[in-house]
Amino acid sequence: MGTTGTTGAIAGRLEQLRGELPTRNHNARTVAALAANPGCARRGVLDAAGIEKTVLAERLGFPARYGRSPFAIGRGNVFEARVKADDGRELRRLLAEVLGADPDDGALVDVDRGGPTGPTARPGREERVARTREALLRAASGDPDACAILDHPLLPLDVAGRRAYLEPDAMACRVAGRLHVVEIKSFAIIDGSADPGKLASATRQAAVYVHALRGLAEELGLDPESVSTDIVLVCAQDFANRPIAVVLDVRRELATTRRRLARLSGVEELFAELPEGLTFDVAEERVGAAVARVPAAYLPDCLSACELALFCRDEARACGTGGDVGTLGTSVRGALGGIDDIGTALALADGTRAPEPGQEDVARLLRRAQALRHEALGGVG
Ligand code: SF4
Repeated sequence: MGTTGTTGAIAGRLEQLRGELPTRNHNARTVAALAANPGCARRGVLDAAGIEKTVLAERLGFPARYGRSPFAIGRGNVFEARVKADDGRELRRLLAEVLGADPDDGALVDVDRGGPTGPTARPGREERVARTREALLRAASGDPDACAILDHPLLPLDVAGRRAYLEPDAMACRVAGRLHVVEIKSFAIIDGSADPGKLASATRQAAVYVHALRGLAEELGLDPESVSTDIVLVCAQDFANRPIAVVLDVRRELATTRRRLARLSGVEELFAELPEGLTFDVAEERVGAAVARVPAAYLPDCLSACELALFCRDEARACGTGGDVGTLGTSVRGALGGIDDIGTALALADGTRAPEPGQEDVARLLRRAQALRHEALGGVG
């Protein structure tokens, strides 16, 4: 079969999987989430087919508890506006602190403002992409009037043959000839540490922007390496809500994102093991069986990165006698060293099973933990 035939066959297969299920356009969050569990074939297949997983999760009877609350979105918007207010004064101060940029250099240009109908109008998507391209070219040419900070650039990215548009919070344009992605998040860095889940998700998202920006630079004939893998993360410091910036190296996340996107584009291998005629567009009582035909690799991280997490967790826990302890996270797996099954761990904890040689220490700890839990619950646990 020629390339066209193969492409047609794959498109047909994707259509069959999707049926009449609604589709979703990717954005930076969804692309970043791809890298959260790169080993999961189920997610790969669903994303390649462009299926709206929120709808699928509802049909499965496990609606997603995933995504930001309106309150968190509102707080994030207020924080971002504060960082960029007054021609980016606060952001300039932070960029000077962490990158050594000149705080008085150049302007902050918002590509999301100033359309054909007036200075506050929002330009269309293609117009914003064109402005982003122009800003990249001017920054690369060393034009002294090029902007120092590009606000709301818009980056095109092809994800499994579908065009996505990504919007980094900002881009520092001219720091020692390099471009830096700036990500503004309202979560706090307290005593130098941030919530690891939020930090990992922000880093993955920034890596997606770096990938898209490098693609755009290449398309414009510029050196993709001029887009730095050191991104600037702006967060709230301690409980004061005062902005603080840190530089993070996203090389590892960038490599994972690239691999994952390449795998989505080469979906043939994802389909190799799937039964012919498989579709997820079936009656609600049969959709669980259809999804279960595609192997999953559930991890606790899925809870914050994938809409199907509750279904997959339930499935992982139900398999075998009690489920694989790996579904509880790598630290639990490490602490239970050698015990692979949750049912065995629970039986050792409540004393209904005697430890095998080598399991005595873990069994003692499990019984102690069980006793403490019982005590904490006032004898009802
Ligand atoms: S929730 Fe399920 S489908 Fe999503 S990444 Fe995790 S295992 Fe894969």
